[in-house]
Amino acid sequence: MIRKDRLLENFISLTSIEGVSKKEREVADEVKKRLDGLKIPYVEDDTGAKISGNCGNIIATAQGKETKSTPFCFTAHLDTISTSYCKPVIREGVIYSDGKVVLGADDRAGIAAALEAIEAAIELDLNYPDIELIFLVAEEIGLLGSRNLDFSGLKSKYGFVLDSSSAVGKIIRNAPTHYSFEIDVRGRSAHAAIAPQDGVNAIKIAAEAIDKVNVGKVNEDTTVNIGTIKGGTKTNNVPDLVEIEGELRSLTQPKIPEEQEKIEKAFNIAAEKYGGECLFKWDLEYSGFLLDDDNVIIDWVSNAMRLAGVKPELTQVLGGSDANNFNEQGIPSVNLGVGYAKNHSPDEFMPVDDLVKMAEICLEIIKYSSNIRA
Ligand SMILES: [Zn+2]
Repeated sequence: MIRKDRLLENFISLTSIEGVSKKEREVADEVKKRLDGLKIPYVEDDTGAKISGNCGNIIATAQGKETKSTPFCFTAHLDTISTSYCKPVIREGVIYSDGKVVLGADDRAGIAAALEAIEAAIELDLNYPDIELIFLVAEEIGLLGSRNLDFSGLKSKYGFVLDSSSAVGKIIRNAPTHYSFEIDVRGRSAHAAIAPQDGVNAIKIAAEAIDKVNVGKVNEDTTVNIGTIKGGTKTNNVPDLVEIEGELRSLTQPKIPEEQEKIEKAFNIAAEKYGGECLFKWDLEYSGFLLDDDNVIIDWVSNAMRLAGVKPELTQVLGGSDANNFNEQGIPSVNLGVGYAKNHSPDEFMPVDDLVKMAEICLEIIKYSSNIRA
């Protein structure tokens, strides 16, 4: 049985300690203490050293008796967007921070739910396969924990990521591919009054190009943003450089090169008109995924939710999560709505009932796993 008192106590203690990205040590140690108590073995990987953080990913394995079923994992991230150390308060069934810092339910709620479910499964002496509990660092600063995770060492064939700010019951089975880009618009420097004819104005090129680039939602599942622009040094000089940064996301992979081409074309046409040039740098932040209806994990999680009394709803988001990296590495994974809201702000809150529901869903996922044959 899920024990609400124990779950709440664990959640409160996890949200009361520091865990900003790259400084997850305190929260990781708290998680390890709980794993020790449950006699679940774990390792901490070397991601901390690789990313100059003070903590690595924790990979714990709850060994199961059910060898005919498929090993799977729950994942949640240890870090918060900014410093935590909050003093959570509960008002009318909802947990808030003290209003000064984030609550950090994103993603301590995921951690607490997974730990409560595994403890309940052990107490109930359930039959389940090996279950990996993967607690990741530095999710908030570019999914660095899962990017650096050694997937070849995992047993899991499926993954349940507990880290969406959508409502409990939402199953994210489609998320975008995300590229960031940098464009250097190169012109030619000259004195703006004495020899303007010798100059090529990079700001003029950039302005004309940007005017031609569609931004915002450019089609039903693709977004483009120009986020920063920097250029010019003084008023009496023809500027020779403008640096632009932006991003492109799409839920449909083939639309990515199409949009990249449109953006580059707009810049190249403007540069050619004035005699300048443009350099483009595209960085893949993460790859998208789409899990079809017939994927085992969709049925599995939907049934588990129904058994927990929650109506499952398949959905998509235009944001990335660790689920993107798990899917890219060949482990079909859904990201689940945890029910916290206003995350990344001091107004963040977590309804107690949702926290309990989340743990119950995790427990049903564990119970249902005996139906999933290896
Ligand atoms: Zn999160």
